Amino acid sequence: MSAADVPYAGTALGIAAAVRSGTRSAVDVVEEHLTAIAARDGEIHAFNLVTADQARRAALALDRRVAAGEDPGPLAGVPVALKDNMCTSGVPTTCSSRILEGWRPPYDATVVEKLAAAGAVVVGKTNLDEFAMGSSTENSAFGPTRNPHDASRVPGGSSGGSAAAVAAGFAPLALGSDTGGSIRQPAALCGVVGMKPTYGAVSRYGLVAFASSLDQIGPFARSVADAAALYEAIAGHDPRDTTSIPEPVAPVSAGLADGVAGLRVGLVTELCEAEGIEADVTARLREAADALEHAGAKVDEVSVPAAVYGLSAYYLIAPAEASSNLARYDGVRYGLRVDAPTTGEMYDRTRTEGFGAEVKRRIMLGTYALSAGYYDAFYGKALRVRTLILRDFEAAYAGFDVLLSPTAPSTAFALGAKTADPLTMYLNDVCTIPSNLAGHPAMSVPFGGGDDGLPVGVQVMAPALAEPLMFRVAAAVEAAAPAAPAPA
Ligand code: GLN
Repeated sequence: MSAADVPYAGTALGIAAAVRSGTRSAVDVVEEHLTAIAARDGEIHAFNLVTADQARRAALALDRRVAAGEDPGPLAGVPVALKDNMCTSGVPTTCSSRILEGWRPPYDATVVEKLAAAGAVVVGKTNLDEFAMGSSTENSAFGPTRNPHDASRVPGGSSGGSAAAVAAGFAPLALGSDTGGSIRQPAALCGVVGMKPTYGAVSRYGLVAFASSLDQIGPFARSVADAAALYEAIAGHDPRDTTSIPEPVAPVSAGLADGVAGLRVGLVTELCEAEGIEADVTARLREAADALEHAGAKVDEVSVPAAVYGLSAYYLIAPAEASSNLARYDGVRYGLRVDAPTTGEMYDRTRTEGFGAEVKRRIMLGTYALSAGYYDAFYGKALRVRTLILRDFEAAYAGFDVLLSPTAPSTAFALGAKTADPLTMYLNDVCTIPSNLAGHPAMSVPFGGGDDGLPVGVQVMAPALAEPLMFRVAAAVEAAAPAAPAPA
């Protein structure tokens, strides 16, 4: 299949404009995407579940509203793929874990309600690393997702299904969740745009918790403008999420064409030189920085010394929170239950059979880090590193408007290449984790290809709530990017 055959390479904004004006029917749009999914998802496995009938019904209802003179919203008729860790009322939500098999949430996540209110059409639930723990989608209990650019490679993770769905033309938009890089890293490996909002900008109500102080939902799209539209549709205060920011969201689409003249852009030295960053990735980053300079930005190197400790701090904080969040899967309240003579044995067997190896590893790491006697040495210390990272970012942002780094150390790697060694897998997130620890927004924009012809992503980071500025810079990076390698 060549790029020209990607079934519906149209933009989300283009689809919405056509559906709103009645020149295209939402039913046709959905049907085209369902056809694309049917043709190739057997190979890619982006979806755990395709909600075809529900999507068709939603599209029909939208077309009726348009015919009746109504405007169904800014994303009218646009197919969206949802990571399978976001609750959908009555529709299985598995987190790609056996332990949730068969569970149907009794409610919709806030983002799902917001998508419907914007006129978007959910076409299915996408594959992920179990409970969003991983960087390749190989930790899914239902088998891996493959990269549409090269099916022998991983799509990244943990939101690999969502990234692959957008790259393969199964949906112009998708939602993922990002705890340590799970939107940005797969976006980079699949050659699409992926964005993690400021912590609290998008409601986490109905997002199955992994590490609550880090988790954020965000958009995938094939362009910065489409990602901006999706971000605007899902952001905003939600009284059902106590960590939701109680202020109106600053619009990001309006300023996309404002350019970067006069902006100060910092290349983060430590993240450009971090362990395992490949030369072709750094080369693309430098080209992106040169392009911004050419467009009138002032580019310089900047040091964020504590950023390199982010990975170590994250692998204490995230497992600690996960060990607590995942205590609820006890065979009583959700999904799987393996019966046994006593309640204790029932818990034991349910969790033994229901969780995969990586989830068990994190629960053990986190329980250990939180245990009496080790709490201060591990968890407490990690929290102090988190504060240092925040301070170092603050110092850097005193001199710079936005920061740049690679998104991921390499292009997409082969399936199986890192599964035997969790540490090399963890290293994938060295550049993305610092923004999660700081609660800052960050996004990955495709910028040409690596030596192997696979996509490379450039990461744009910004201070809390500076999404408008970040999107502006992302649009400038996109405008300067060499032609993206096309999916195979
Ligand atoms: N890859 C990281 C991890 O395994 C990040 C995951 C995420 O952002 N959900 O924890």
